[in-house]
Amino acid sequence: MNNSRLLLLVSIFFVTFSKGFAKEKIFFQGNSNIKKIALTFDDGPNKTSLPKILDLLKSENIKASFFLIGKNIADKKLQVERIHNEGHLVLNHSYTHSNFDKASKKLMISEIEKTNNVINDILGVTPRLYRPPYGIITKDIKLAVKNLEMNIVLWNVDGEDWNSERSLDYVVNTQKKETKNGSIILMHTQPNKEMSYEALKILIPHYRTQGYEFVKLDELLGIEAYQQKDATR
Ligand SMILES: [Zn+2]
Repeated sequence: MNNSRLLLLVSIFFVTFSKGFAKEKIFFQGNSNIKKIALTFDDGPNKTSLPKILDLLKSENIKASFFLIGKNIADKKLQVERIHNEGHLVLNHSYTHSNFDKASKKLMISEIEKTNNVINDILGVTPRLYRPPYGIITKDIKLAVKNLEMNIVLWNVDGEDWNSERSLDYVVNTQKKETKNGSIILMHTQPNKEMSYEALKILIPHYRTQGYEFVKLDELLGIEAYQQKDATR
């Protein structure tokens, strides 16, 4: 290996390293030079649409990232275990999924910590990636996340599977159009709603035809999904 090549590798490593450990970074997408994308599913767990989506991901051998609502977890521990055991990431989407645009830093810390704690009680890992409900980010939300040494992850593809006024065609075509290298794709597991599942059945083969590889957020972004202290327990 010649010197300039070594220098290049060292700089790539440094950029990746410093990016990955930046404390206040808000992520919208991964590396746009690599043909990898991350499927992310918000608002679980539930016993209706979530198992169907997990079945589909399993049969397609795809790993994804799930942002869970803490208060929904109590009677759905088996679903949370299943997400984790099948190799997906279990991440934090607040405890009550309220509109936090006027919430204090203290309330936000409690919202995020409560969900981290219920997840840790079941799985023994503590998420360090937080997705704010409705994508709302305020100064207090940023301070709370920083205080907990976590990162905020948003998205750059939203087919609006959450919007009941949208047709399946709209959801599928919007996702197809918006997806590019490094995309973080926003989808949902909502009770009594099959839209995401139906869209996924069409989109998985489409993305594969386009040459995309499906990865979890930690790989896409080059960051840790769980807090390090878990590893030494
Ligand atoms: Zn949500």
